[in-house]
Parts: sequence; structure tokens; C-alpha cells
Amino acid sequence: MMLAPMHLEGSCHCGRVRFSVESTEPLPFMRCYCSICRKTAGTGGYAINLGADHRTLQVKGRRYVRVYRATLDTDGQAEVSPGQRHFCSHCGTALWMWDPRWPDLVHPHAGAIDTPLPEPPANVHVMLDSKAPWVRVEGRPGDERHAAFPDFSLADWHRAHAPAPAAADRPEGPG
Ligand SMILES: [Zn+2]
Ligand SMILES: [Zn+2]
Repeated sequence: MMLAPMHLEGSCHCGRVRFSVESTEPLPFMRCYCSICRKTAGTGGYAINLGADHRTLQVKGRRYVRVYRATLDTDGQAEVSPGQRHFCSHCGTALWMWDPRWPDLVHPHAGAIDTPLPEPPANVHVMLDSKAPWVRVEGRPGDERHAAFPDFSLADWHRAHAPAPAAADRPEGPG
């Protein structure tokens, strides 16, 4: 099942950065407990990214947007991640992640989105090997849990789990 693209509006907390994007993966289902997500975007222990079409990303206040690229420890070698974590330089809000290896995709942080998002039918908990010890994994009994990053994409999961869109539930927004 493929959802019709959903128009998402987002912003940082101070309002200097506003953005919009068309999303075919708008269900905020995947909780990532890695240390990068926890420290940069998820003080409760995890962050949630959505999937959207980078070609439709429109940004106001781009001069306030800064990019953070994490340094990863790969087999003892320090390596700068290609992933570009965009955030507001004034208020620090995590906005979206973009990776040049998948240039057509962009991953907005669910918390930066102002449009009401659909409630996911389940959650998937990933990178649990990196979870902080004090974080309790909360969710539903049937939720999937993964020690590392699973090998399915956000789009794969949406095809398998997204509820069929009822035409009346998903009107084309006024813009
Ligand atoms: Zn801001
Ligand atoms: Zn993460």
C-alpha cells in the first residue's frame, strides 16, 4: 500500500526556519536510539525521522540553517559521516537529515513538523545496542526491536503497514 504524498509543513522552535515538503513516508514509526539521535534530537532517548521527496523541499530562512556531520568510529578509524543533519543555528532545533548517497530523499525530524501527522499503527525500535541504559523502550507488545539498523527502508515499511488511505481522510490540502 502506497500512501498518496502528504504535504508537510515544518519549522524550528524560534520560527526563523520554515520548510515544506511532500512526504510518502509520513508515519512517525521508527524510533532510533543511536547516540547521534539521542544527543542531537532526542533527549527522551530516541529521534524519529520521516521520509520525503528532497526535490520538493522548500525552505524559508535558509541562512539560519547549519549542517552537522557526525564523526563516526568505524573499526577504530574516525570517519566523517556523509549524512548532513540540518538544524537551526539560532534555537538548535533538529530539522532534517539529507545524505548525498540518496539525493532524492530527505528525512525531516517528526518533532519539527507542524502538520498533524498520522498515528503509526506500530513502532519499530532500532539501534538498541546504542541505547542509553536509563531509557526504557516503550511501545506496543508486538513492536519490532532491532539491535542495529534494520535492512528495510521507510518506504518498505509503509508499503507493508500503512493503512489504506480513505479518500475523505486525505484531502488535498489547500497548500
Ligand atoms: Zn530556530
Ligand atoms: Zn539515530
